[in-house]
Amino acid sequence: MKQFISLLALVFCLHFVLPAQVLLVKNGKPSGRIILTSNDSIDTGAARLLQDFAERITGAKLLIQKTDQVKKNDIVIGNDGFNKNVQKDNLQEDGFRIVYNNHTLRVVTGGGKGSIYAIVSLLERYCGVSYWGENEYSLTPASTLQIPVVDFTETPSFRYRQSQHYAMATDSVYGNWMHLKTPREIFAGNLWVHTFDFLLPSAVYGETHPEYYSYFNGGRHPGKASQWCLSNPEVLEIVSQRLDSVFKANPDKHIVSVSQNDGNYTFCQCKKCKAVDDYEGAHSGSLIHFMNKLAERFPGKEISTLAYLYSMKPPRHVKPAKNVNVMLCSIDCDREVSLKENASGREFAAALEGWSAITKNIFVWDYGINFDNYLVPFPNFHILGENMRLFHKNNVSMHFSQIAGSRGGDFAELRTWLVSKLMWNVDQDEDALVQTFLRGYYGAAAPYLYQYIKLMEGALLGSGKRLWIYDSPVSHKEGMLKPSLMRRYNSLFDRAEKAVAADSVLLKRVWRTRLPLQYSELDIARTNKKMQVDDISRKLDLFEERVKLFSVTALNERGNSPLDYCALYRTRYMPSGKQTIPVAGIAFSIPPSEKYATMGGELTDGLYGGMTFAEGWVGWLGADAALTLDLGSEKEFTGVHTDFLHQLGAWILAPSNVTYSISTNGTDYTMLQSIDHPEDRNPQVKFVDLSYTGDKPVKARYIKIDVTAIKTCPHWHYGVGHPCWFFIDEIWIE
Ligand SMILES: [Zn+2]
Repeated sequence: MKQFISLLALVFCLHFVLPAQVLLVKNGKPSGRIILTSNDSIDTGAARLLQDFAERITGAKLLIQKTDQVKKNDIVIGNDGFNKNVQKDNLQEDGFRIVYNNHTLRVVTGGGKGSIYAIVSLLERYCGVSYWGENEYSLTPASTLQIPVVDFTETPSFRYRQSQHYAMATDSVYGNWMHLKTPREIFAGNLWVHTFDFLLPSAVYGETHPEYYSYFNGGRHPGKASQWCLSNPEVLEIVSQRLDSVFKANPDKHIVSVSQNDGNYTFCQCKKCKAVDDYEGAHSGSLIHFMNKLAERFPGKEISTLAYLYSMKPPRHVKPAKNVNVMLCSIDCDREVSLKENASGREFAAALEGWSAITKNIFVWDYGINFDNYLVPFPNFHILGENMRLFHKNNVSMHFSQIAGSRGGDFAELRTWLVSKLMWNVDQDEDALVQTFLRGYYGAAAPYLYQYIKLMEGALLGSGKRLWIYDSPVSHKEGMLKPSLMRRYNSLFDRAEKAVAADSVLLKRVWRTRLPLQYSELDIARTNKKMQVDDISRKLDLFEERVKLFSVTALNERGNSPLDYCALYRTRYMPSGKQTIPVAGIAFSIPPSEKYATMGGELTDGLYGGMTFAEGWVGWLGADAALTLDLGSEKEFTGVHTDFLHQLGAWILAPSNVTYSISTNGTDYTMLQSIDHPEDRNPQVKFVDLSYTGDKPVKARYIKIDVTAIKTCPHWHYGVGHPCWFFIDEIWIE
């Protein structure tokens, strides 16, 4: 960002003139006005923001007027009228210049929300206002408000900046103060990502024109999450017509997303599409050829498309047209170090550099979030600046920094503030920013929270473990969340709470920030066979009380609530005292997938799997399976309990049928029960108990559990046509 402040004030140090400045309020009375040069709605919003905060500081209400009669101490906002002759060279969208001129202040912009951002900058730099979170700001009351002689410009590092925070929906000042935009503000019809099924609905065309959709595994796969056959000219025609009406309905918007559906590798492999992709050496090949044709039909507009999962790598030959925007996603990268420092990051960085060599129109979607656990520590502050500078250097002009911005998310307030500051100006020092925020937001608790952040960052790096966006706290229980460190983190939070004990506002902020540590402790405790029940029970009660106090509603991307988690904890994870018959051995007709088989013994260890599939579960991919439990000798029992995981987002679908049989010799089996399980499209994570329970005890040595899996993702699922998983944990015999 280009920025300069010239201290013209020094030039005017003659003793008989007033010190050069713009005096907006003097001794509690307005002495200047806010002048608008036009009726522009953004400029008007900027004027009201200044009026509002000047009043909060001084108690005086500045007048807002539209006039050409500018007087001493006025601040003039807008590019017209009185400001027409103010130089605004090189100002880009959202950029601005603030310049002192003869006891007045002029605010001119490069369009967009420039005037609002100018006022935010004035308030932050010269009026002592800082904005932290949802209606949370700090300022020092004063009876006089004056702006010194200034001349500076600011231009954002990224023309579009997006992140997440709960205050975006509840606090009208927040989003503007953080310089954030929303897709709704710029994308026509709010079509900004995963739009294929909206533009060419499979519900409309799927049956009559399966050839519009991807061909693979010997057939076409129309479905809500299917991709397109991009070489089919009819698809281009239909999509063109749809876009034409979208733009006509949204004449003020100039960009729209035409982008692949989410979460799968179902690109078309028909002869024609495959030939294009083979020639281009990447699956983005057929996509970019298609988008270029669309872009040609809408020369004044921009077509945004995803470079995501299978389409992340750039094509070898074709270049995106100027008005094709490439939305590149770093979803597969690990986050413990910056993108240039680990293998997954380098693969992404190579793709970024490849795209950067063929286009200047790149949108990067970066992930600083744990999708399966919003309430876990996600120590990635140390990599944010470096990554954003890499994006900026590589022609990235639009950026979405996705974070757990919901209530209770790990440092949600700091995180949005920090990424917003960096997206506006990538050259800032992230560590200094973190410290500024901590001091302003947590007061005397700041040093302890800073130590907590740095200690965990060091522990993560020292552990050699990756930081993944689908981790469980359990993934780090021998690393950054090991007991000796947990004790230190808790001690730091205890001291932080003590430091602000007399200030209920600050204390609550510390409490809210502690939630991820509390959740991690609970979630790790459930994997401990020697759980300290009384201690954990007390901690669970406190966690429950706090999530209620802070209205924390989401535990993960699938919409599970923390209160449900607490209830589940009591029934599923707390030792039940139930007697179970030990299993001497398990034989598999088809062994579990290697990736999720190492914990085979965990099927009968007495501990139930958690909501994160990455830990504790045993999984099979695309196959039915049978498990035979050997009890060692004939035993009497009344039930066999088998628990399955339902996690659509991770392609884990509970089976359609489970059949229980018993045998005394291991050869001749008698069926006990066959249980059907209906299809379930609910995206929430669930545990599916498909158990046999009898009225009377039965006697057997062998128990066979036949599992009929779904095997292939159905048409409504992201993975349409591809193998899906089933996961089991736990099995116990009653
Ligand atoms: Zn095709």
